[in-house]
Amino acid sequence: MSGCCENKTFDGASPAYRRALLAVIAINAVMFVVEMSAGMISGSQALKADALDFAGDTATYALSLMVIGASVRTRAYASLFKGASLALIAMAVLGMTALRVLDGSPPEASTMGIVGFMALAANAASVVILLRWRDGDSNVRSVWLCSRNDAIGNVGVILAGGLVALTGSAWPDLVVAILLASLFLKSASAITLQATHELKADREFQAQH
Ligand SMILES: [Zn+2]
Repeated sequence: MSGCCENKTFDGASPAYRRALLAVIAINAVMFVVEMSAGMISGSQALKADALDFAGDTATYALSLMVIGASVRTRAYASLFKGASLALIAMAVLGMTALRVLDGSPPEASTMGIVGFMALAANAASVVILLRWRDGDSNVRSVWLCSRNDAIGNVGVILAGGLVALTGSAWPDLVVAILLASLFLKSASAITLQATHELKADREFQAQH
């Protein structure tokens, strides 16, 4: 779910490939806005936390498109920026969730279910669009792995919606939100760490040549 879908092996910049990438960027950006707004309106923290993944995937694919052919240094700085901004949003969601614990009123369960299913459909559509551009087993595997994680997050939101409807409690929503935002924080730090290593390796390489 979280900061997954890293694309490290973009080689071709064919027009058809760029179009596919733009379509996926549009789907993810629209779903970020839809799911974040639905989270605000319904008062669901899990929807807000799940929306983070769309923000992350939008940033990943947009950066991939922008930095095709750029230097290791530029790409590493782009990753640092991505890691930092995603960590900030994740902390904002955790903060809002903490405030919600004090408030205690349950979110609107039907919105969680409907938007959760939309998110699942959007992730499935992104996979279908990207899959034909993946060659090599490891790439196909990484698309499947991160889409599976995204789907688990979406199903988590739908299940939380069901539990909120059944129990009338805010807790299922809050627990799923905390899980999703924590996972996101974890991958934001992994992205930052990897970019730091890349910058260090690049500096050493430059010093030797
Ligand atoms: Zn994702």
